[in-house]
Amino acid sequence: MKTDIKSLTLQEMQQLFKDMGEPAFRAKQVFTWLHRGAKSFDEMTNLSKSLREKLTETCEITVPQVERKQVSQKDGTIKYLWRLSDGNCVESVLMRYHHGNSVCISSQVGCRMGCAFCASTLGGLVRSLRPSEMLDQVLFTSLDSGEPISNIVLMGIGEPLDNFDTVLRFLELVNSPDGMNIGMRHISLSTCGLVPKIAELEQHNLQLTLSVSLHAPNDEVRSSIMPVNRSYNVDTLLEACRHYFASTGRRISFEYAMIRDVNDSERDALELAHKLRGMAAHVNLIPLNNVEESPLKPSTRKQVEQFQKTLQSKGVTATVRRSLGGDIDASCGQLRRKQVLEDASKEG
Ligand code: SAH
Repeated sequence: MKTDIKSLTLQEMQQLFKDMGEPAFRAKQVFTWLHRGAKSFDEMTNLSKSLREKLTETCEITVPQVERKQVSQKDGTIKYLWRLSDGNCVESVLMRYHHGNSVCISSQVGCRMGCAFCASTLGGLVRSLRPSEMLDQVLFTSLDSGEPISNIVLMGIGEPLDNFDTVLRFLELVNSPDGMNIGMRHISLSTCGLVPKIAELEQHNLQLTLSVSLHAPNDEVRSSIMPVNRSYNVDTLLEACRHYFASTGRRISFEYAMIRDVNDSERDALELAHKLRGMAAHVNLIPLNNVEESPLKPSTRKQVEQFQKTLQSKGVTATVRRSLGGDIDASCGQLRRKQVLEDASKEG
């Protein structure tokens, strides 16, 4: 087994080089090459030929291939489907905003959370990604598009807190001054609500933005669309969120996908406002993206606006998320789903 060198922190790389009898500054050179997207050790021209050969023998550099790329004609959003070294695929999306470019990345191949409205979970979890594979999505999205990346959202395929250690390591890598140097305040992490992991994340006191996929004001509705709610219910989750804010000082952002006749009534809005009262929270309303396999439908525009008004009238900050890339299956999981079905039909 070769070492997955891009998953190593600078400190670990220094140890690796020390063990190889090489000076520590070599580690920094290699780290910088890797975090600029070098695809082989041969590109690292400031290393001796013998060191490059030694590294090639013992270490692997992950390089995802562009399997599909879709560019939105409307807003320039680019969706990438990456083929990983073991043949699995994951998605990333580059979104352009006036405050800078954001890339939405995946944390797992598939997902085991089972949310009823989500395309990523349809085939279950295949495996978790490695730190290098998460970093590669940021790196190669930037390199392929020629665009600088200023923000990262962990809102692609998978549940980031179900791949906890890897995500923490990824954050350290992408935050590194010798790497992409993306500040924690420019990173958002979205979770379906794994309460013990939220508590664990709190201990790390990171300056990132935690987004919680709430999608319902009570257990009845939430359990019907999100199985995770049967393990950690709405009150338990909101309690963990209050605690998280009190300890980190970071305001939580709640995601609320508006599903017609499921969670979009006036009563739902009032109940949600009541539950969130006094919390330093922000609600992001997202009209549901249609998923072919699912009978769930998006709320009407009017209903979304009414819901927002009700929340605001009760003192809860709420915005309606502008939907980018609607013409390119940009809601995560949809493109990979197509590819999985296509790959399967080729094999069969
Ligand atoms: N597992 C994490 C992150 C991945 S999903 C989480 O659950 O938060 C990113 C966001 O997209 C989540 O809020 C998720 O609930 C939402 N989402 C998934 N499918 C959707 C759909 N069809 N329409 C709108 N939002 C969706």
